[in-house]
Amino acid sequence: MNIKSRRYAEDQGPPDAACGCMVCRRYSRAYLRHLMHSGEALSGTLNSIHNLAFYLGIMERVRASLAAAAEATA
Ligand SMILES: [Zn+2]
Repeated sequence: MNIKSRRYAEDQGPPDAACGCMVCRRYSRAYLRHLMHSGEALSGTLNSIHNLAFYLGIMERVRASLAAAAEATA
């Protein structure tokens, strides 16, 4: 997702509806876009929090998949 896109200027939806991080629960795409266009440092902080939550979710799924594969072959 390119949060800088004009199409998010009035989008009140969460950055990622499938994500449960505090950024996605509290802030809209429009607000994040506003912060980025305004050069606010908070923009980088909130984007990083969401991105880290996204990668942690991926790693949780990878670990679960590896554990299931190891169990299936044991
Ligand atoms: Zn999120």
